[in-house]
Amino acid sequence: MVDLQSQYQNIKDVVDASIQEVLNSSAYINGPYVKEFQADLEKYLGVKHVIPCANGTDALQIAMMGLGLEQGDEVITADFTFAATVEVIGLLKLTPVLVDVEPDTFNMDIEALKKAITPKTKAIVPVHLFGQCANMEAVLAVAKEHNLFVIEDNAQAIGADYTFSDGTKKKAGTMGNVGTTSFFPSKNLGCYGDGGAIFTNDDELAHTLRGMVNHGMYKRYYHDVVGVNSRLDSVQAAVLKAKLPLLDSYCDARREAAMYYTEAFATNTNIITPAISVFSTHVFHQYTLRITNGKRDELHQHLLENNIPNAIYYPVPLHAQKAYQDDRYNEDDFTITNQLIDEVISLPMHTELSEEQLSFITKTVNEFVG
Ligand SMILES: *Cc1c(COP(=O)(O)O)cnc(C)c1O
Repeated sequence: MVDLQSQYQNIKDVVDASIQEVLNSSAYINGPYVKEFQADLEKYLGVKHVIPCANGTDALQIAMMGLGLEQGDEVITADFTFAATVEVIGLLKLTPVLVDVEPDTFNMDIEALKKAITPKTKAIVPVHLFGQCANMEAVLAVAKEHNLFVIEDNAQAIGADYTFSDGTKKKAGTMGNVGTTSFFPSKNLGCYGDGGAIFTNDDELAHTLRGMVNHGMYKRYYHDVVGVNSRLDSVQAAVLKAKLPLLDSYCDARREAAMYYTEAFATNTNIITPAISVFSTHVFHQYTLRITNGKRDELHQHLLENNIPNAIYYPVPLHAQKAYQDDRYNEDDFTITNQLIDEVISLPMHTELSEEQLSFITKTVNEFVG
């Protein structure tokens, strides 16, 4: 699905030199690269505070802890996403409330969101799925009306730009009270291990979060709150600092591959190609098709037999996962997600796709799903 080896070969000199510098310095934790990457990312995102941490799942958990969410508080998120979002809600003994998504963008459905709000609702977690932003203008309006926190799960859309109706532009992850991301190797900005970060423009929240990632310490060995141990190590920060200047070109390369795919499938009536919303650029963390003739599973097998990597993101809606089933959920509320899980298939998407590869992939898909 991703070709991390070719990407590494193209940046080997600078990355190897940075890693060597960390090894020579032996500042493996909290070394200078962590601060430098933090500052670079703050500048890139146009956000006041970036708090690096160990992974994207921790970032979500720490964000929720930092906002002071407590047992029984309801947190609304999308039914069609990776489980990390709902996992941390469960771990913190908050109550997850799952809502359906839009069929074209796969992002949180705003009417479903409005319907899910109760007096116990405390936060909304829009997930910017597959590389484009949820309808943040609407999410923020709902949040304002009901006095709710907004936590953007931006693990899949770092680098995407959102345009509000008044023309204001913001980077994905910087619009809510807090945003989170992951630097897992296959993400658009990936390191060579685990990594993550939290973003906020709120000075007080940033201070709280910086202590929370480090055992709740604001002064060494004085623990003011219950925290966690969640650090971005120096080697990963060095890799990320080297790769951040390339993020926009990486997103462009993904968009170019996506355009090739979309053009090649344009006349295929059994395929729905990814929609691009008017308010968000798409950074194509995934390129996800809907196969509407019922042959998705057969296509999955056929592509594997032809050595074309592909994946079903996601095969089971969160509300139907063993760990997250609940009598509160009603199948009628998840008609779109229930349909998508039978139709979606993601094709190879990364920065090093050649025209030859794209041509072979699209030909193979079109011949099978004719
Ligand atoms: C990858 C991902 C995460 C978790 O990130 P990790 O760094 O793997 O913990 C969370 N949410 C979404 C939507 C993701 O895609």
